[in-house]
Amino acid sequence: MSSSFDDLLAANRRYATSAPRNFDGYAHAGVAVVTCMDSRLQPLEMIGLFLGEAKILRTPGGHVTADALNGCVLAVHLLKVSRILVIAHTRCAMASEDDDSLHRRIAQATGADTTDLEFGADIDQVGRLRADVQLLSTHPLIAGRAQVGGFRYDVDTGLLEELC
Ligand SMILES: [Zn+2]
Repeated sequence: MSSSFDDLLAANRRYATSAPRNFDGYAHAGVAVVTCMDSRLQPLEMIGLFLGEAKILRTPGGHVTADALNGCVLAVHLLKVSRILVIAHTRCAMASEDDDSLHRRIAQATGADTTDLEFGADIDQVGRLRADVQLLSTHPLIAGRAQVGGFRYDVDTGLLEELC
């Protein structure tokens, strides 16, 4: 059977010949990262970690959505996470325009009506980051169990800045 994914499955067969095995599912560095889906970001590499060491939760904008919050709670209680980094980044589309603008751009690009979707774009990137850090650090299932920090990654320099 041929599919749209044949090239990727072929690559996977090559990968499987040397894929890391016999890991457990813990975050062995005790770290979880919530960050953006942006393809310029390498969440493990940017903080010097490797496979098996951290939980990575990716959302548009790196926002702490309901699913990301659930992931953090699971990570803290079951997966040995004691530090959570929320990482926004420069030149993020989710911080460069609002949802109305995204809906318009999508309509222009493909004609699709996405106005039923709430993307959560917010031009107040630092304000949103602070609110997300606050949400996690004061959450009754996380407070006292994990340190939470807010950061911004610069996609031009590769540097991470601690903001809150
Ligand atoms: Zn982004």
